[in-house]
Amino acid sequence: MHQDMILRVQQIRRALEAAAVPRWGRAPQIIAVSKTVDAQRVNAVQEAGIFRLGENRAQEILEKLPHLNASFQIDFIGRLQNNKVKYIIDKVGMIQSLDRMSLAQEIDRRAQQRALRMPVLVQVNIGDEPQKGGVPVSELFAFVRQAAMLPGLEIRGLMAVMPDIKEEARLRPCFVRMRALFDALKEENVAGVRMEELSMGMSGDYLLAAQEGATHVRIGSAIFGARAYGAPAGRIDDTLKGDIYS
Ligand SMILES: *Cc1c(COP(=O)(O)O)cnc(C)c1O
Repeated sequence: MHQDMILRVQQIRRALEAAAVPRWGRAPQIIAVSKTVDAQRVNAVQEAGIFRLGENRAQEILEKLPHLNASFQIDFIGRLQNNKVKYIIDKVGMIQSLDRMSLAQEIDRRAQQRALRMPVLVQVNIGDEPQKGGVPVSELFAFVRQAAMLPGLEIRGLMAVMPDIKEEARLRPCFVRMRALFDALKEENVAGVRMEELSMGMSGDYLLAAQEGATHVRIGSAIFGARAYGAPAGRIDDTLKGDIYS
């Protein structure tokens, strides 16, 4: 029944391996973006060797987590409000969408309360789009140096959501620029920072990402099919309600 999904993962993995360039090391790993997909279908992709999931809403994570195989790691990949950090801090393995200092401070505070160090990626606004999240390129190095001083989080790399550009000739330079920023930050050797992950590329452009040096691609619809939006079924603890639905 879920064989189609498993086949798609295998096809994508083969295509990534064929597109990857030796200079970047191994082909990018797949993070399956499981937002809006019910837990049963999500669980099936583990058979295809996927162990990381991307989710973008705190509420959905809380509802889905009890039904997911325990060996998945959830990566938070969406806009994260400061007041939601406390709900997800001990449920996700990484926050990929760190894009401002107030969020870094809140992650730091909540992680320290639980005596953990949260792995994060710094999201970069590579297309310089005002409507999109991400640290502006011009502020990236200063941001990394400052956030690296917070003991409750550990910077593991960079993440980008590419601008919505169809022409490859205009989109490719965004990937190239992200890889250059990633390498430059690695060179900097900022204390406490491990520049290991470069998360870029989605269903429409993962081959470009592989060619230009992504270490991780975040793929949703190409694995699970088109997303059906609407509230996922399930109830939530009343104590959370006011805040989490806001
Ligand atoms: C939804 C989403 C994805 C996956 O998008 P697809 O086009 O379905 O692969 C990747 N990254 C982020 C941040 C997302 O919100």
